[in-house]
Amino acid sequence: MAKAHKETVIDVHHWSDRLFTIKTTRDPSLRFRNGEFAMMGMEVDGKPLLRAYSMASSNYEDYLEFYSIKVQDGPLTSRLQHIKIGDELLVSKKPTGTLLWDHLRPGKHLWMLSTGTGLAPFLSIIKDPDVYENFEKVILVHGCRFINELTYQELITHQLQDNEYFGDSVKDKLIYYPAVTREPFKNYGRITTLLKSGKLIEDTGMPTLSVNDDRFMLCGSPGMLESISEILDEMGFKETRKSDFREYVIERAFVEK
Ligand SMILES: Cc1cc2nc3c(=O)[nH]c(=O)nc-3n(C[C@H](O)[C@H](O)[C@H](O)COP(=O)(O)OP(=O)(O)OC[C@H]3O[C@@H](n4cnc5c(N)ncnc54)[C@H](O)[C@@H]3O)c2cc1C
Repeated sequence: MAKAHKETVIDVHHWSDRLFTIKTTRDPSLRFRNGEFAMMGMEVDGKPLLRAYSMASSNYEDYLEFYSIKVQDGPLTSRLQHIKIGDELLVSKKPTGTLLWDHLRPGKHLWMLSTGTGLAPFLSIIKDPDVYENFEKVILVHGCRFINELTYQELITHQLQDNEYFGDSVKDKLIYYPAVTREPFKNYGRITTLLKSGKLIEDTGMPTLSVNDDRFMLCGSPGMLESISEILDEMGFKETRKSDFREYVIERAFVEK
């Protein structure tokens, strides 16, 4: 397929029966910005079967990483979940997307609000040294139904802090806030509720939200995006449209069919 590179799977990690991560080789010519997504998939009956996937690896890493759901009757992921090291994947040559920190008006605090696999684009952004250069605090919120869906905690709470280049900035600036909705957990409830009630602000130790200082990136289900956008709009925040860079940007983690 002319519009996609063929990559080889170099690692597969199954987090649970719903979630897994794939790492592949990376064609040296592939360029992308942290937060973007590509079309990724496999050949089925001689034809490409591709879906949008956020890059979970950063743009300076020499491999590609994808964080995926397993939809049991999903055309792609019913197959993709059985992929093995050495298998081939297709990755489109021109990643794109809206979750770019410099498509926000300059501010002090970058909030990344995600649910489920909506975490994926933020995994590439929290490894971006420029983000720590440009914001005083970087807050990653990950909402899931169950505790075992709070994946990547080792990376977020340990490995990044040990990074020889930007580990000190991570220690100083990155705040991680996992939240769960369907079983008891220290941070219990939907992000919308935690945001509205002020608990998210209180628990993270951040000052009251202000249009001057706070910037948001949202990635989650269509319903999550709608309700958080509504809350932000009510508070006076505005969404970036084309080159009118404002206080928040959004990307769907998936489309409801
Ligand atoms: C911009 C964008 C970026 C995306 N990035 C990712 C990503 O990084 N990781 C990822 O797993 N998916 C991502 N998706 C969703 C992805 O494109 C596919 O929908 C997913 O891989 C399932 O493919 P499928 O062919 O098996 O089923 P599909 O026919 O595509 O989906 C079937 C149904 O499953 C549900 N579903 C699909 N994806 C998800 C999901 N991620 N979480 C919860 N429910 C879902 C929806 O109800 C959907 O209608 C993204 C979608 C968009 C639009």
